[in-house]
Amino acid sequence: MKKKEINASHTPLYREAGFNLQNSKRTKEAFAAELNHAHEPEDYIYSRYRNPTVVAAEKQIMELEECNWALLVETGMAAIDVAVSVFQKGAATRPWLFFHEIYGGTNSFIDTVLIKRRNLDVHRFYANEGLYDFEELERMLAEIQPEFLYFEAVSNPMLIVADVKRIMELAKQYRAKIIVDNTFGTPYLWKPLLDGADLVIHSATKYLSGHGNITAGVICGNDEELMKEAIEYRKWAGHFLSPDDAYRLGTQLKSFELRFDKHCKNAMELAKYLENNSKIEEVLYPGLESHPTRKEAVALFGDNGFGGMITFDIKGNSDEDKREKCNRFIAALEDTIPLVPTLGEVDTILLPVEPVWGAKYPLPGVIRLSVGIENIEKLKGLIGEALENM
Ligand SMILES: *Cc1c(COP(=O)(O)O)cnc(C)c1O
Repeated sequence: MKKKEINASHTPLYREAGFNLQNSKRTKEAFAAELNHAHEPEDYIYSRYRNPTVVAAEKQIMELEECNWALLVETGMAAIDVAVSVFQKGAATRPWLFFHEIYGGTNSFIDTVLIKRRNLDVHRFYANEGLYDFEELERMLAEIQPEFLYFEAVSNPMLIVADVKRIMELAKQYRAKIIVDNTFGTPYLWKPLLDGADLVIHSATKYLSGHGNITAGVICGNDEELMKEAIEYRKWAGHFLSPDDAYRLGTQLKSFELRFDKHCKNAMELAKYLENNSKIEEVLYPGLESHPTRKEAVALFGDNGFGGMITFDIKGNSDEDKREKCNRFIAALEDTIPLVPTLGEVDTILLPVEPVWGAKYPLPGVIRLSVGIENIEKLKGLIGEALENM
């Protein structure tokens, strides 16, 4: 049956697994062209290779990160797998260097996939009480001569902002490629590719989609060769974002800047409010004068804002007292600000640090807030009341 062209006003949702190549000549040409690994092929073949709904969402992300290409995959972890695997070249693989202050799942990926299963020569650069010793970093770069350096600008859950200019200068000096996980910063605050990064990844599950209703990841870059490698790896390792989720992401990306602006404004106001609340011991928010890396945050983010994450410590006489107060605070908010182990949603959610990070951060009164885009007075009211009644 002949398909009629529909005058759709939005990119349609193409759910098909395979595309109609009509005849042998076109099939042959499409498969030959596929070997070039173009970002947007002339003819679509099979959705795992490329899908038009997915490509449409990728183009939206290219505009946000101001880069030449973006590749969507099914999760942030899949994006990390693609980003690092393009540098794996059998026996010729050089050592890789990762900051240790990165997403916990990435550290688990390094341990269980890169080291345990792939037996790769992976090194970690550790922070000292959340702060980086650049002499130590330089010493490691000189000694290891890594293929790439992998880091995040904002640490989690302590929200330490790194001196990224310094890190990137050092990496370039030792000819290490630079991979940045920009999930926390988002392109609203920082565009690492404009500052010389080679690859940027995101968990688009978080701020880019922003509604907590899909999982997705993206790898962004400018270099054509890296893109072809990434497309090849994505295809044959079977990483792929479903068209349904790409469609949803495409819709939600349209409000990304609007949302993130509000996340930043709400978080700034809430951080100040918490800092002045007598039930709170300490508030960590990079926008506060009291934050240990406010200088780095201002240098990196300028006037754009300081993100949507706040970490704070509830006052208590002892660890047990803090733990109980923390539990009562969480219980009081159960129906309004739920305990959800993710971040970057339009709704405010919280996460107690001790039960998640355990021995790494044994801090019984500490809560991480992912601040949403709700009416700020309502948010302050809810949190203030819960603090009052703990
Ligand atoms: C959540 C997260 C990831 C992993 O993303 P998923 O979509 O959960 O696979 C990676 N990096 C950071 C910083 C994250 O917050």
